[in-house]
Amino acid sequence: MAGKYPRSCINCGARIHMFLGHDGRWRAMDYPENTVSGRWEIHNKGGVC
Ligand SMILES: [Zn+2]
Repeated sequence: MAGKYPRSCINCGARIHMFLGHDGRWRAMDYPENTVSGRWEIHNKGGVC
């Protein structure tokens, strides 16, 4: 089973990537080209998504 897959956010429709963490929980991450820092960042828009 793959530990990651691309999808669209169901809340805002943004293109995101899901990663399976070491704790077994999935995290939505913003693509580097969509973040200010240019790195993978948690997609939550301040808790909205
Ligand atoms: Zn979103």
